[in-house]
Amino acid sequence: MTKYVFIIGGVVSSLGKGIASASTGALLKARGYSVRMRKMDPYLNVDPGTMSPYQHGEVFVTEDGAETDLDLGHYERFADVNCHKTDSISGGKIYFNVLQKERRGDYLGATVQAIPHVTNEIKEFLRSDLHGEDFVLYEVGGTVGDIEGTLFLEAVRQFANEVGRQNVCFLFLTLLPYISTAGELKTKPTQHAVRTLMEAGIQADILLCRSKMNLGPEERRKLALFCNVSPEDVIMALDVDNIYKIPLVYHEQGLDVQILKHFNMLEQAPEPDLSGWNKIIHTCSNYEKDVKIAVVGKYCGLLEAYKSLNEALVHAGIANHAKVKVTWLEAEQFEDLSQEQVNEQLKPYSGILIPGGFGVRGIEGKIKAIRYARENKVPFFGICLGMQMAVVEACRSLLGIENAGSAEFGSHYIPVVSKMKVWEQDGKKQIRADNSDLGGTMRLGAYPCVLKKGSLAAQIYNGVTEIQERHRHRYEVDMSYAQQLAEHGMEISGKSPDDLLPEIVEIPEHPFFIGVQFHPEFTSRPGRPNPIFKAFIESALKYVVTDS
Ligand code: GLN
Repeated sequence: MTKYVFIIGGVVSSLGKGIASASTGALLKARGYSVRMRKMDPYLNVDPGTMSPYQHGEVFVTEDGAETDLDLGHYERFADVNCHKTDSISGGKIYFNVLQKERRGDYLGATVQAIPHVTNEIKEFLRSDLHGEDFVLYEVGGTVGDIEGTLFLEAVRQFANEVGRQNVCFLFLTLLPYISTAGELKTKPTQHAVRTLMEAGIQADILLCRSKMNLGPEERRKLALFCNVSPEDVIMALDVDNIYKIPLVYHEQGLDVQILKHFNMLEQAPEPDLSGWNKIIHTCSNYEKDVKIAVVGKYCGLLEAYKSLNEALVHAGIANHAKVKVTWLEAEQFEDLSQEQVNEQLKPYSGILIPGGFGVRGIEGKIKAIRYARENKVPFFGICLGMQMAVVEACRSLLGIENAGSAEFGSHYIPVVSKMKVWEQDGKKQIRADNSDLGGTMRLGAYPCVLKKGSLAAQIYNGVTEIQERHRHRYEVDMSYAQQLAEHGMEISGKSPDDLLPEIVEIPEHPFFIGVQFHPEFTSRPGRPNPIFKAFIESALKYVVTDS
């Protein structure tokens, strides 16, 4: 019988509910259980695809092509599961579905109401596409008391009654603030938040308390008493210096044991295998070397916008026993600088990475950074827009197409990157005219890519001939420049199986220059880095920085 764990937050936002959920999933997975991880976001956007990375952080893309909240990235990295389209829902999507049903007449003339129609729609999500997993974890976005979250909590309450309260565990992530003048951790906000949750008909089973320091036994008893849980169900989630320590810290604090006890499963539960996590932490605590990487991007003011990318670099560092020191540079600041000034700024770095992005802002700065890396043989890694700009730079500098650009940036450029015109969807080839709206459809999710024998890409992927990586783009490099580019040293080393879409470019004469149309950061895991990131860091470690 599947067990359901709901992770709900209280007191304040930004307590790291996503990582707390992901770490709980990791602990259950470490005991050999099958785990499914899901997220409910009460906001009214239909999905995060159109939300600014500045407001909401990165858009994470699942294998099956859903644009989701970045927490799904944490789930995949910690619990080592692949999330699906059906694992993420927003308030907007729920209302959208309800209104579509209403328009279609599915409610047979009934007055459409928050309860039962909206709550039923949420419960449908909770039950959808499950396959007898041992545990399904649902993170409820937002904080208890949020108006937007009310119907979600109501649906969760009803759901718990329907599947049987013994099959549901409510994990409540909360904050114990430290008041320095009193020299104490305060439990009152948590007591209030637990009470607010009870007003929604939900009794927290386990409290996961974010805190700077440990709670004394007396305060723990008091908190448990007021919150209606046992003292062992008060789990401390102390601040840590490395997020990958969290599963181990939760385990030491007894979180997995308390969850299993709650479900009456502890006696027959397998012992956890935490060796992978221990190894990761051991490596991170004993780095022998470090390497400086410059990421030249657009949203560098908010690192959440490049969450998976940052983590993928950390994973690649772990695999190379090296601390990756990332400097995030706004591409826009390079726009008014001369090429020489940009070169000077980039000199201290052993590797240059241009991440994915949208829109024209900062483009000329990125192109200067690429030119520096190409001409000075500095390890270079371009992702999605980064790959497209590597081609634009090559077209300008090597082919002499001075005004080369992407159709994305307006009509005053010669487009060497343009809208996808040939498109495969559900096994059928689709052809779009240049001015067709549908031509703007994004290519989302995992697609196969065939690697050229003997290329750097094939070497990186260990001689495999076909790989799968996740995409999120609307434009692509125009293949008609391939021949000319190859004559000037830039090769297409990865293509879609039908040979129509360029997936990887590289410069064989350069020690490490690779651009990929996909987002390899989405498949990287702490114990299993994405091969391109690993190889990039490996080559950066070999690069010798000359006078900086
Ligand atoms: N803006 C580019 C496109 O749509 C690149 C997208 C990306 O980097 N994710 O093709």
